[in-house]
Amino acid sequence: MKKQDRAHLKLLSDVGEILSLLTGSSDITEFLQRVTTKLASHLNTAVCSIYLYDEKSDDIVLTTTVGLKASSVGVTRLRLEEGLVGKALRELKHIVLEKASLHPEFKYFPETGEDPYECFLAVPMRRGVERIGVLVLQREAPHKFTESEVHLVLALTSQLAGTLENARALLALQSGTIQPENRADKLPTFLQGKSVCPGVKSGPAYVFRRRASLIPEGAAKEGESVDLETAISATAKELTALQQQLANRLPEAASLISEAQLLMLTDPGFVGAMKAKVVEGAPPAQAVSDIARKYIRLFENSTHAYLREKASDVEDLALRILKNLFPLENDARSSYKNQVVVARDLFPSDILKLAAENVNAIVLVGGGTTSHVAILARSLQIPSIIIDFQELLQIRDGEFVLVDGENGHLYVNPEEETRRKYEKHIQTTEDISVLASKIQEETRTRDGIRVRLMSNINLLGELDLALQLKAEGIGLYRTEFPFLVRDTFPSCNDQLQIYRELFQRMAGREITIRTLDAGGDKMLSYFDTDGEPNPELGLCSIRLTLSHPEILEDQLKAILLARENQNRIRIMFPMIASPDEFLTAKEMVVQQWKKLPTETRGELPQIGMMLELPAVVDLMDEFVRIADFFSIGTNDFVQYMLAVDRSNERVADFYCPHHPAVLRGINRMVRPALAAGKDVSVCGEMAHDPKYLRFFVGIGIRKLSIDPNTIPEIQQCLATETCASMEKYAQDLLKCTSIREIENLIGA
Ligand code: PEP
Ligand code: MG
Repeated sequence: MKKQDRAHLKLLSDVGEILSLLTGSSDITEFLQRVTTKLASHLNTAVCSIYLYDEKSDDIVLTTTVGLKASSVGVTRLRLEEGLVGKALRELKHIVLEKASLHPEFKYFPETGEDPYECFLAVPMRRGVERIGVLVLQREAPHKFTESEVHLVLALTSQLAGTLENARALLALQSGTIQPENRADKLPTFLQGKSVCPGVKSGPAYVFRRRASLIPEGAAKEGESVDLETAISATAKELTALQQQLANRLPEAASLISEAQLLMLTDPGFVGAMKAKVVEGAPPAQAVSDIARKYIRLFENSTHAYLREKASDVEDLALRILKNLFPLENDARSSYKNQVVVARDLFPSDILKLAAENVNAIVLVGGGTTSHVAILARSLQIPSIIIDFQELLQIRDGEFVLVDGENGHLYVNPEEETRRKYEKHIQTTEDISVLASKIQEETRTRDGIRVRLMSNINLLGELDLALQLKAEGIGLYRTEFPFLVRDTFPSCNDQLQIYRELFQRMAGREITIRTLDAGGDKMLSYFDTDGEPNPELGLCSIRLTLSHPEILEDQLKAILLARENQNRIRIMFPMIASPDEFLTAKEMVVQQWKKLPTETRGELPQIGMMLELPAVVDLMDEFVRIADFFSIGTNDFVQYMLAVDRSNERVADFYCPHHPAVLRGINRMVRPALAAGKDVSVCGEMAHDPKYLRFFVGIGIRKLSIDPNTIPEIQQCLATETCASMEKYAQDLLKCTSIREIENLIGA
């Protein structure tokens, strides 16, 4: 080893040792001074300074120095766009110069006394994407910094960065520039997010929290309490009313939400134990919270997912009883009526509760717009947006907010003017009946080509809208929603009731019913997945139902029975990856169908599949031989084609439906299917977007399944375009070789 290398190694280990001194060190200034002195002497430089970046003021501040005037410490400050130090930190690139003052961006700081030191080396320090500061070394000419010295300093700064980051935080605390933060005070007054469900609503914000943390420890509540018995019967009344409300809005979930809780209200182990505690002399609030906490702990620690899920039911119930114990106090916590809920993790069943309680709007902090929670919020027509800004979770309960679901805007404490503007907007928003009156029975392009507009349905509550807006049928009924909103698998009979209602209300029209597509971001809370690390790539969708054939058998039986004499009901399998999977699933339909009495079973229904995995692109010739029809699930096709989680807002920019591989992949799937005369539709979100709509029609698609409220817009859009122009548009898109080229063409 060369002498110089040995010296460098020694320096690295010395610095490492010094850095370890920061822990527990109370004098940060002295610590920084020791670091710079050590560096200056080892590197043989006249000047060694550390500039730290102060995010609050956006200044870079000379924090410690050997060689410059001590009086300039804390005084010399520059902006990111100023001087060589600013340049190094702004561009996150080191700068080596023989004569610093000749550089066009050189800025002279006379108070430092740096005039003689022309040889200059500045190395930015960062931690991940966080800018920390700059280490600057200076010497008199002609002693410029050699390449090996530069490498050594680069290695050193990467060691220093973490410790200096801590030092910077400690310094800020000592100087009082950082107050123990109340982030709620720092929330911006306007945040731009993404639209999930249009509609403008305002109201007090309320952060959705879970679990026992909400239940006060012991007899936390003081004040005038009614007796426990009265509170319990008030709670029972409240739950029955909630159930009624829910039945109107969500027939398939009618008895679900509060049934378990109503049962608990008569359970001797639960309510009985509370009463016993009161008899022993405990205040009612304490009795409720002690017993509730005990149950929550028991449920939370259960090895069964469906029991763990019960913990939130208990919590919800206890909060209701507690609220009813103190009826005079206006505690909004147990009801979300007219509030704007801000939430990070919502289960589909939470959204149902919020809908039943008439929440005004939902702000999801993170998540993707094609996630199923988002889809459910849309189905329930709750104005909702997604904003990936974690600080929102610290918003004060009761803070007035306004949600513009259409544009993804959130206003915190909006000015009077903004409120007035939106009030006007609400008044002028078109009524559904007005929209419905403008809709034609049939949708045609400008040159008269018929395109069938079907409706996607997640909840039976959407059927009215689909009928009002003249959907020609149901192109996708996502059967998983009745599964998602329950806390256990629906029985065959439960399913039969739901499917029967769907088929009867849409009688005579084509209905495509998709078998259970659970897992991924549609976790069934009662079905253990053993903490799969990659649920989207795990045991989900058709894989799940084929590995538990009893679930699929029950469902198929319910569908076939509910069909009665209707012959336009089609069965579709999700996430098919191979002909083998499809044939196995298809055979199960045939078997269930054969079990029905000959006189009532009618013909074997058409059996089709979703096209949503890249694996099927090259197997279409095989699939056209075995499947009756196809529907393109673009939400998943984009996700799996590009390996981008559709529910993750952080990678939303990579979720790019206009990627050339996506468009070409879709075209390659469609061509053989259409050539074989098969029915092909699109049921993913891309079908709602005029940019892609024209592409789909251009490649020959004549059936789209879309959210019912988008039917008027899509119909209008198609009426203005000719088939020839859409074909040309599609061909142009297919020729593009990059995302950018496509963006230019579609104006994205
Ligand atoms: C799709 O993947 O595009 C689709 C329609 O199915 P889902 O959104 O239910 O996964
Ligand atoms: Mg899908």
